Amino acid sequence: MTYRESPKGWDGIVDQLLLEFEKLPGWRHEYIDQIKEKFGGLRVYVSPPVFELGEQAERLIRKAEAEAWLTCQGCGTKDDVAKRGNGWVFTECSACHAERRRGLPRGRPR
Ligand SMILES: [Zn+2]
Repeated sequence: MTYRESPKGWDGIVDQLLLEFEKLPGWRHEYIDQIKEKFGGLRVYVSPPVFELGEQAERLIRKAEAEAWLTCQGCGTKDDVAKRGNGWVFTECSACHAERRRGLPRGRPR
């Protein structure tokens, strides 16, 4: 599943999004181009563009993106989550942020 490059902490959000996509009438898996982290946020790239896929698909994507802002991309917790870092921004809890600063890879963007 190469299209899926989002960090581990967001796996639950992405799993849920994929499940809900499958319930949309006429949905095709090939519509998904890429799912990744960018500037600390979850990005879901689809083609055709989301406004052509319809309101339901757009709503699901916005919901997943909004949830990701509240969820640690490293471990998936919703406690103590903030946008952290300077320059390269991560949405993560203070524990994951401290680990990252010690140089341990955890939920790093690939
Ligand atoms: Zn964390």
